[in-house]
Parts: sequence; C-alpha cells; structure tokens
Amino acid sequence: MTGALLSLEGVTKGYSTGGLLARTAFNAVDDVSFALNASQPEIFAIIGESGSGKTTLARMILNTVFASAGTIRFRDKPLAAVRGRKARLDFMRQVQPIFQNPYEAFNPLKRVDRYLYATALRLARAGKGEVDGVCDEALRKVGLSLAEIRGRFPHELSGGQLQRTAIARALIPRPALLVADEPVSMVDASLRMSIVYLFKTLRDELGMSIVYITHDLATAYYISDRIIIMQKGRVVEAGDARAVLDNPQHPYSKLLKSAVLSADGVGAMEQVTASASNPRVLPADIPTL
Ligand code: ADP
Ligand code: MG
Repeated sequence: MTGALLSLEGVTKGYSTGGLLARTAFNAVDDVSFALNASQPEIFAIIGESGSGKTTLARMILNTVFASAGTIRFRDKPLAAVRGRKARLDFMRQVQPIFQNPYEAFNPLKRVDRYLYATALRLARAGKGEVDGVCDEALRKVGLSLAEIRGRFPHELSGGQLQRTAIARALIPRPALLVADEPVSMVDASLRMSIVYLFKTLRDELGMSIVYITHDLATAYYISDRIIIMQKGRVVEAGDARAVLDNPQHPYSKLLKSAVLSADGVGAMEQVTASASNPRVLPADIPTL
C-alpha cells in the first residue's frame, strides 16, 4: 500500500521499428517513476518535445497501451489487474482522458450530445430522466450549456467549444483523475488560457487531479504543481514546477526554457505569470516550442 492515487514504478514501453531485415528496438518510455498523492489533488505536468514519449505514457496510464516493464497502480491496484467489463468501467469512472485534437475524438457524423448522453448513462449511471441534467451540469462547468450544443455536429462547433465539450464529457463520471494529452495545442491561442484556467478550477473546486501533458512550458508553469521533463522516453528532471522552470538544472530543460524565452523576445512565463493574478487578462499569445 502506497496510499497514492496513481503510481508509476520503472514504467517502460519498448517498440521495434524498421523493416523485417533491419529491425531496431527502442524504448518510447524508459524507466519512468512518479506518484500522485491521493489526499492532495494536484496538477502534474509531463513536459517534453514531440517524440519524447508523452502520449505513450498517457496511454499506459489510461490502460490502453500495456507497459513492457514496470508497474502502474491506480489506488494501489496494478492496471494489469483491471480486467473484464466491470473492472474496466469502474476504472473509466475514475480516470478520464482528454485528447489533443477534439475533431479526432468525435466522429464527424455523430452529434456531439450523443457522446455526453452515452457517458452519462454508462459511466455516471444516470437514469433516462436525469441524463439532460447531468450533461447540462457538466457543460456548465466548462462555460457551455446543453442548449448550446444539443443536436450539433462536431464541425458546427469551434475548436475551443468542441474541446470544452470533450472536457465536459470527461467530467460527467466525476473522475478522480484526468489525463489530458496536449489539450490546448489545437485550440486558438486566445482560448488557450481559459481552458488552462479551467483545469485549475477543477483541481481547486472539484478536487480532481490532472496529468497535464504538454510541450508548452508557459502553461505548465502557470498551472502545474509538479512537473517532470522527458527527453527520449526518460525523465531528465523532476520537481516542484516553479523551482524547476525558474532554475532548470538539466541541459535539456535549460534548452527548452531558452527556446520559450527567445520565441518572441519577451519572457512568455513572465507574461503568463502577470496574467495569472488577473485571469481575465489573457496573454496575447503563448509561444509553443
Ligand atoms: P510524444 O507524445 O511525446 O510526441 P509518443 O509517445 O507519441 O511521443 O512517441 C514516442 C516515440 O515512440 C516516437 O518515436 C514514436 O514514433 C514512437 N511510437 C509511438 N507509438 C508507437 C508504436 N505504436 N509503434 C512504434 N513506435 C511508436
Ligand atoms: Mg503526443
């Protein structure tokens, strides 16, 4: 018993690539360990540039990709033991995903409210008469309402509205943990901070923990409690978000930070920090790496 909400110990995922004659094996995720506290909700950021293994790690936490080595536990139960329909549904009630591209997460031919209804019936165990209320309540947490999205197809909503709908869907079962894989990188810069700010609210008001995956140091600096920085599948630096990003030690972390600071000649982090005291003042643009 560790008492952790989520714990990873030596988690590794190996793949092999190349043709039949020239196969090479490599670890997309290599010996990653960390734990989220069960009693203190937190935003835990996983930072790294493209190809560093973030999505593979997210999928392992969501139990859709299986680790080649190491152990992931949710509330002390190894994910390898989450087998069978009932156990899987129970896990999905507690751990919900948010993906990078909301237009890929929703079938373009299916009205978006159908996803919300299905989640309410299946995961929130809502009765037929309660479904509308459950969906509307979740949508209101993200600044939308059922009336606004009812009957709409994905292409009839803006990227920001659709991503907020995806977040609302994830909130319906009232999960303890959200795994958000680059949730704002497809969203217009002007809306990015409002979604990032929403994650803070979910942590503070609903007590949700969030694994926030990003290549964007500025938003990570603004909302995260702790971070890990990944390079080529390995964790190169870990710790308190502000401490690590204010004073990175590893050369790769320093490089990531200098890339942000030189992106527009202005310190993006200072810009974000300035807006944090007044969330209504949104930074004009947050450079990404
Ligand atoms: P990130 O999300 O940080 O961009 P990914 O986890 O998507 O990184 O990928 C990490 C590495 O693993 C990349 O080199 C990618 O090409 C490789 N990879 C991811 N999924 C597979 C797979 N199913 N088979 C082979 N290689 C994969
Ligand atoms: Mg990815």
